Amino acid sequence: MQEVNKEPVSVVRYKEPYSSLKKAVLECGGFDRLTPGMQVFIKPNIVFWTKSCPFPKWGVITTSRVVEDMVILLKEFGIDNITIGEGIVADPEDEETPAHAFESLGYNTLHQRYGVKCINIMKRPFEEVKMDNGVKLKFNRDILESDVLVDLPVLKTHNQTVVSLGLKNLKGTINIASRKKCHSPDPEYDLHYYVSRLDIPMPPALNVIDGIYSLERGPAFDGRMRRTNLLVVSPGILSADLVGARILGHDPSQVSHLAQAASRAGRPADLSDIEIIGENVEDVSCYHENDFVYTSDNSGEMPRALARQGLEGLFYRKFDDTMCTYCSSLNGLILTAVRQAWQGQPWNDVEILTGKKMEPSAGMGATILIGQCMYNKNKDHPNIQAMFAAKGCPPDPYEVVEAFRGAGIELDRGLFDQVDKLPGFFLSRYEGNPEFDESFYRVD
Ligand code: SF4
Repeated sequence: MQEVNKEPVSVVRYKEPYSSLKKAVLECGGFDRLTPGMQVFIKPNIVFWTKSCPFPKWGVITTSRVVEDMVILLKEFGIDNITIGEGIVADPEDEETPAHAFESLGYNTLHQRYGVKCINIMKRPFEEVKMDNGVKLKFNRDILESDVLVDLPVLKTHNQTVVSLGLKNLKGTINIASRKKCHSPDPEYDLHYYVSRLDIPMPPALNVIDGIYSLERGPAFDGRMRRTNLLVVSPGILSADLVGARILGHDPSQVSHLAQAASRAGRPADLSDIEIIGENVEDVSCYHENDFVYTSDNSGEMPRALARQGLEGLFYRKFDDTMCTYCSSLNGLILTAVRQAWQGQPWNDVEILTGKKMEPSAGMGATILIGQCMYNKNKDHPNIQAMFAAKGCPPDPYEVVEAFRGAGIELDRGLFDQVDKLPGFFLSRYEGNPEFDESFYRVD
């Protein structure tokens, strides 16, 4: 029996295809707002894709297992009008990468087998939506016109938003300009503000957090993947997210976008108005780190892994919330290249700045500005002795190599040539471990 006035959230151990998801959905009344004939939009989380290697997907993207099981459940319920939509890549002209993702993940088989439509959001119309306080974002029109949204995020932490669950997954439904806008340097209207409001224009939703695999230090393939075997389901996006955060070992009231969303809804962020059905949250929760640790002293600032290697004379400032996904993915590659470039001789106090709000420090030997935002903000800054900039939005990787060369750091250009293959290097961590099963990402 559900308690009066408490929103139900199912926490179910994933044991087998179909029946585990069915149990989780039905026990929380997940289909109570559905009627046969409705138009349903499924939004999986495909935060990244490459055609060049089968990169480790576990905990990074939604399993095709859960997507297919959801489609079967909907069909059995009399829902025939089902669309799966995702906006995968930064370049809206790139149609091959999303097509490759949909084919590899079995979405084309879902189309043939169940009549599901699969759409690349980047090729579909967007509609401007006025949120509260006059803030506007452009959302995919298909999702706005659907009767019900099935939000299918992954159980993962995130280096900027602490967790990336149902609310954060909706960032994939807005256009590129809106995504960049979300990473605003405005102290009030920042990333957390925007993410906390992404559900405002959505139709009634069912939030299904896919925790068959979970991810530490997400959102991408360089985090640590775990086999977790959980499903967290609720007819309330926020309620499932609050429970998901707790399962990941984080206090939801300290996760800014969740605290803001709860406050806007007039709800507590401590799960006290939620009815948990199934597993005890404390029994299944397991702390997932959300961020990479940086160290800082007089000889440098950098990720701990680089400091342990002994790098000196490098001030690679810790990225902040204003760095968008497109600069972010390049940032990981630059750090890998910097690590390889170290020859044991201290560099000339080279400072690297990213995002939209960092400012150059005085006394640096050279300053590297990554991205158009940094260049526009700091190009005339009096603290800069010698400036080297990669100005694009996002910057051209080879311009980055040149900027570092100017500052006396020789990055291996070959690494940037093979940027698409780099994710595959992380596969070796999981090879031979039967828990990490690629078949979860196929429809056989
Ligand atoms: S330069 Fe980078 S941080 Fe600035 S808008 Fe472009 S992608 Fe975002």
